[in-house]
Order: sequence, then C-alpha cells, then structure tokens
Amino acid sequence: MTTIAHLIAGDRLSTGSTYEITDPYTEQVIAVVADGDRTAADAAVAAAADARDAWAATPVETRRRVLGRAGELLEARRGELVDLAIADTGARRAVAEQTQVDAALARLRHWSALPADLLTVPAEPVASGLAGTVTRTPVGVVGCISPYNFPLLAMVGKIAPALFAGNTVVMKPAPQDPLLVVALTEALNEALRAEGAPAGAVNLVTGAGAEPGAALVDHPEVGAISFTGSTVVGTEIYRSAAPGMKRLLLELGGKGALVVRADADLDAAVAGATRAWTVHSGQICVTPARIIADTSVHDELVGRLRTALDDLVHGDPRDPATTTVPLISDVQRDRVAALVAGARAEGATVHTAANVPDHGYFHPATLVTDVGPEATVMQEEAFGPVICVTPATSDDEAVAIANSTRYGLTDQVYSRDLDAAHRMAARLAAAQVGINTCARRADLPFGGTKASGLGRSGGTHALDSYTDLHATVQPADWV
Ligand code: NAD
Repeated sequence: MTTIAHLIAGDRLSTGSTYEITDPYTEQVIAVVADGDRTAADAAVAAAADARDAWAATPVETRRRVLGRAGELLEARRGELVDLAIADTGARRAVAEQTQVDAALARLRHWSALPADLLTVPAEPVASGLAGTVTRTPVGVVGCISPYNFPLLAMVGKIAPALFAGNTVVMKPAPQDPLLVVALTEALNEALRAEGAPAGAVNLVTGAGAEPGAALVDHPEVGAISFTGSTVVGTEIYRSAAPGMKRLLLELGGKGALVVRADADLDAAVAGATRAWTVHSGQICVTPARIIADTSVHDELVGRLRTALDDLVHGDPRDPATTTVPLISDVQRDRVAALVAGARAEGATVHTAANVPDHGYFHPATLVTDVGPEATVMQEEAFGPVICVTPATSDDEAVAIANSTRYGLTDQVYSRDLDAAHRMAARLAAAQVGINTCARRADLPFGGTKASGLGRSGGTHALDSYTDLHATVQPADWV
C-alpha cells in the first residue's frame, strides 16, 4: 500500500510519520496517509503565499478554466471516486454517487461557469460630486479545514469560490476520510499545469491530529479560514484567529428541529424524519434530530417511526438493500452510544433497531421518546442515527422547543397550511428552514446562527467569506 503524501505546489512532501485510514464497514486499512504537523502546514502556507500574487493576477477566465478542467478530470474517474467514497466514508452507494461525488462535481461546474463580473460590485451613482468603484479583492491565502462526512462536497464548497475569487488555498481535510480530497488536489494540480498557472495556488496537508489545522489558523500569512466542523473546534478557531483578525467562515454543529403541526402530511413528515437514519446514518449537520410533534399526532407519528425503524436494513454500504450504514469510526460510535445511554439514564424510552452486523462501526438506528426539551439527548448533537420525539401543545410551544438549543442551522416545518408554516418558519432561529421538505437548494444562503456558526456559503453568497470589498473614489468630473 503506497503512502499518500502532502501535495505542496504540485510536489509530494513526505513526512516521517503516517497514520491509517480504515473502511468503516470492513474495518480494513485502505490507505496510509502522511500525518502532518506544523512544519508541513508551514510549508504549504509558504507555497500558497509564494503563488498568491501570480494567481490573483491570473485572469478570472483562466481561474474558471482550472476549476472546470479539474471537474472534467474527476468526472472521468467518477466510478473509481464513488468506490473510494464508499470505502473511505462508509456511505451507501446512492449517497456516495449523489452527494459524495455528483453534487461536488456539479458545484465545480457551477463555479467554472459563473461570470467574471461577480467580482465587481455595482457602486452607487455619483454622490456629492464623487464617483466610486467597488471591487471584490482576494484575501490572499485561505486555510480550508473540512469535517468528515461528505469530504469532496465540503472541500469543493470552499476551494471553488476561494480560487474563483483569486485566493490561493491550503486544504486540510478531516483525518478520517481524506482520500477524495487527495483526488481533488491531483485534478486541480493537473488543471493548473495545463493552464500554465502557478502550482502553489493549491496545496494539501493531511494529518491525524489537530496540529496542522491549528497551524493554519494562527499562521500570519493566512488571510482567511474556511472551517466546517464541530462547535467546540469552531470556538477554538474563533479565539485563535482573533489576533490576526482573520476572515472567518465557521460552519458548525446543529441539532435540527422538524416540527410536525396537527395538519401535517404524516407520510411526508416520516419520510423527512427518517433521513436521520437512512442518509449517512445521521452524520450530517442538517439532519432532523428532534421531532416536535403536535400532541394530536404525536402517538400516531411515534407508531409510524417505530414501524420505519423495524424496516431498516443495517449492512454493507455496497449492498443496494442497505438503508443504514456504519459510523465513520469506533470513536464516533462510542460517542453516540454514550449519548443514548445518558438518555436512558435521564428517563427517556429508547427504541433501537435489531439485526445490526457484528463488524463495522455500527450504532443501531435509535428512536428516543418520552423525552423533554431539556434532556441532554435533545440538546447535544449526536451526529449519528438518533431521532428524538417530543410533544408540543401549540405552535408557540413548538417554536420555543425548537429554539431552545444553542444551535441554529436548519429546521423544518411540516403543515398543510402554508401560511401558518411560513409564519412559524419566520420565528425559528435556524438560518434555513424547509417547509414540507428536508431538501436544500445549493444556491440559497447556508450557514448558522448562534453556536452553529458565522458567515454564509451557498451559491455566490460564499464570495463574502473569500473576498474583501475594495473601494476607489474620485472627482466625478474626472470620469
Ligand atoms: P471536528 O471539529 O472534530 O473536525 C473538523 C476539522 O477540524 C477536521 O479537519 C479536524 O482535523 C480539524 N481540527 C481539529 N482541531 C482543530 C484545531 N484546533 N484547529 C483547526 N482545525 C482543527 O468535526 P468533525 O468531527 O470532523 O465533524 C463533525 C462536526 O462537523 C459536527 O459537529 C457537524 O455538525 C459539523 N458539520 C457542520 C457542517 C455545516 O455546514 N454547518 C457540515 C458538516 C459537518
């Protein structure tokens, strides 16, 4: 098995120490990866800083072609990437195809086709005899730090707007599943070479621990950090980035509420709620983790969820019959198990799925009922296949429960009364609310309020996190 090295300005940089990547289902080692430290991160930042001016001066058309060409190169390897996503993340095939790979390629295509004039902001007409211009300028070197779950999609969501805007990047993927980001880096390197663009525009550092990411955050040459991950680490980054006054995009944890009003279509609500079991086993920040059901439909809903729980198939992600996959690691499995054990200890009723394989990092899909809003399992993110259901006697109470956590990422409202649903959506603290759907639109602003983060990605809103607004002013009669 070859060791995967850091990729700095297109060159492999091997460090002495390495660590292993395991397939979450087979528990077999599938790759050996460089275990980077501060020295590796510093080398990557130095390369990105060297390339900063040349890449910023590279025409936007060329920068877009690099993104487009990288997308084509990855598309040509699609089958291989899907298999890699299954082995690296444990995603079942449909999730690996649609969300791990195709959604990421679509995002690259999207940014490669956006107009260059997005970087010019229309200024007010002449005011007080003065004319002005406003331009989006790159912040310089961007440190892109991503979590495990959808590694390619998360990283493309960072590097595409950052490179489009003329920044150079250092990528630091999650320790658990970095292999698709290695493929992304290879494709970007090839595309940079083909365009005669500076190789140091794109750099990759891997590592098993916090050190390389932390080194990017406090490096003086890094102008912005784009971070997706836990609220605990995001808070640390906010603090460490303060002395350098770095631009920050912080996409952090969530504990989504799915409110089921009395008049809801229960089939639709159940289909939405059970995504927490069937879409990557709840290892998604936007997973519907708390179901807040009007008392008139609560028992019916719980009954339907129990039936759905019994129908789940925990198994091999490569088997099309599988609905529920292992978690990324034994560490994450044990973390979820501790949260569920705590729910039991606090008096909740816990229903778990049966027939879970005896290997792989599975935590059985779990339904927690008879649980109040203050219970730890209702407040803390599981990032696993755990759904809690609690009753509400009114819209007011449902909103109060939904807003009672420290998070504010995504919520949903299920109701046949769209006016009432929109009124409720406006009162929810989440940054994005789905009405009768758990789907997201990639072009709408996405991010968090409260402890779920700072800044927005989604569509071209992401540019705010990767650019500064630069203004010029001059006498109008000189125009
Ligand atoms: P994590 O915070 O443990 O790690 C995220 C990344 O930060 C990893 O690359 C890790 O190596 C790095 N890191 C760790 N310590 C660091 C430090 N001190 N400085 C800089 N970097 C450091 O998160 P995770 O376990 O990989 O992912 C799960 C979390 O991510 C969940 O909380 C989930 O809600 C969140 N998430 C949020 C979104 C979103 O869009 N809001 C999307 C996906 C995941």
